[in-house]
Amino acid sequence: MKPAAFDYRAPRTLEEALGLLREHQDEAKVLAGGQSLVPAMNFRLARPAVLVDIARVPGLDRIDLDDPGSVTVGARVRHLDLEHNTIPGPLGVLLARTGRWVGHYPIRVRGTFGGSLAHADPAAEWCALACALDAEIHCRSANGARVVEACDFFEQMAFTTCLAPDELLMGVRLPSLGDSWGVGMAEFARRWGDFAIVLAIAAVERDGDSVARARIALGGVAGGPVRAAHAEAALSGRAATPESVAAAAAAAAEEVDPTGDIHGSADYRRDLVRTMVTRALNQALA
Ligand SMILES: Cc1cc2nc3c(=O)[nH]c(=O)nc-3n(C[C@H](O)[C@H](O)[C@H](O)COP(=O)(O)OP(=O)(O)OC[C@H]3O[C@@H](n4cnc5c(N)ncnc54)[C@H](O)[C@@H]3O)c2cc1C
Repeated sequence: MKPAAFDYRAPRTLEEALGLLREHQDEAKVLAGGQSLVPAMNFRLARPAVLVDIARVPGLDRIDLDDPGSVTVGARVRHLDLEHNTIPGPLGVLLARTGRWVGHYPIRVRGTFGGSLAHADPAAEWCALACALDAEIHCRSANGARVVEACDFFEQMAFTTCLAPDELLMGVRLPSLGDSWGVGMAEFARRWGDFAIVLAIAAVERDGDSVARARIALGGVAGGPVRAAHAEAALSGRAATPESVAAAAAAAAEEVDPTGDIHGSADYRRDLVRTMVTRALNQALA
């Protein structure tokens, strides 16, 4: 299949890009890595009249480590850059562990962090990671800038976010987890490189033998990423034992309400949630 005809624009400044989005609104689509948009256009599931390619807009491909409490990942940073990042500490480890699960190698070479969040596939690894870490998503239009918390950014409907048609996702601010944090990521997919059937991201702050705070998010179980609040509560303030991990994993399986599809029934997915949360937590606590 070939895409419907479109006008291709390649702005060289942010102002130019935002101006094009304001001018064309719903008729325009941002082109980042093209790894989701181009297939959708080829299948004629998307028919934008104008493509605004952000490849030449300066500043969007940076990983900013200047602030000691956070790391800001530019929208155009590639999956592969995060897989092989030089970000210190547990955050760098979590990004690397998660990045290698995003699609196949050629997709990770071209696909971008911001594109994944804007596309908002319910089983996308980066969407669950952003939700788990309470990331701040920085958006900008010709009218100004705003910051949205990750869990408010994703609407619980597949491929739907609160981004307005004239808004560009600029970057994502993640907390630079200190050394008291451990991180884990577990995913089940039919084949390596496929989208997850279920995935779990965990970050756990240790206080001696106890868990001070736990952050757990799931992908593949609803229309968007889901924060497993009951599972977090089951673990936070408790001793880090196999029993408390099992209680948290059981709570996660209870609090989700997945639907069945060709990949598995709702019960199968629920059972996978228990297993993926157990694996992610065991990694985080190791
Ligand atoms: C075979 C295959 C397997 C894959 N497997 C996985 C997987 O396992 N996990 C996974 O997470 N992904 C997977 N993907 C998708 C891949 O990760 C994409 O790279 C990603 O979803 C979109 O990023 P992109 O940069 O390619 O965005 P594009 O395809 O260029 O754009 C995607 C959407 O986001 C919008 N957009 C992009 N950037 C911005 C921005 N800065 N501001 C506003 N809107 C923007 C576009 O307008 C478009 O609507 C797979 C893709 C393929 C083809």
